[in-house]
Amino acid sequence: MAQRPYIVGNWKMHGTRAMLSEARAIDRAAERMVKVEVALAPPFTLIHATRKEAELIAVGAQDCHAAEGGAHTGDISAAMLKDAGAGFVIVGHSERRADHCETDEMVRSKADAAIAANMNVIVCVGETEAQRDAGEAEAVVTAQLAASLPSGEQAAERLTVAYEPVWAIGTGRTPTVDDVSAMHRAIRAKLVELLGEAGEAVRILYGGSVKPDNASELLSADEVGGALVGGASLTAESFLGIIIAAA
Ligand code: PEP
Repeated sequence: MAQRPYIVGNWKMHGTRAMLSEARAIDRAAERMVKVEVALAPPFTLIHATRKEAELIAVGAQDCHAAEGGAHTGDISAAMLKDAGAGFVIVGHSERRADHCETDEMVRSKADAAIAANMNVIVCVGETEAQRDAGEAEAVVTAQLAASLPSGEQAAERLTVAYEPVWAIGTGRTPTVDDVSAMHRAIRAKLVELLGEAGEAVRILYGGSVKPDNASELLSADEVGGALVGGASLTAESFLGIIIAAA
């Protein structure tokens, strides 16, 4: 990995203020792990407090609305997230695509909104188990990527892609290292096709049941620039195990 590995924790719908002690512990440890770039995406309600507790790591959000503002009850715009202290937004997570029927087009609009608000964006893509079993994984993922990427000149420098096979999220199952390598190479090739030379520098994270004991193997796969971590990011102990494996 030429760039520093990027390890991003996604707390999903977990965490009240009591969990800020975990963010603080992660931040303190990250100070010594200079070879790794560490980030946390807590729920919206904890972004501001996490930003205050954790001074060194990046803090981001798990979603944003595509509009700048308006009559969208319960939604949050990218500018609001930035104001709360978020520096990046995750868009297109498979749980959002499934639970909120988010299409590639919607994901792209959200990614565009994040970039327009001068934030970085992590665009998630990944195939279902049925799609993998049908031999369609690469075609599905590269098509999702082509349709979900943000547009505009600033896109590449603000962009990270996360490959998260849906069947590996929260299941304890992971693809083989060879399968991760093959998919990440396909994503790289697509990024270069879509973005030209700038596509070479876009980081591609692997996500799906990354734990301290499998992190170094998964991170050794071709073109893997870090990890998007769900369950194992909820405690400082397990998240730091992954960060140490990446260092
Ligand atoms: C995720 O939701 O982004 C994720 C990768 O979850 P987990 O690590 O729990 O599989």
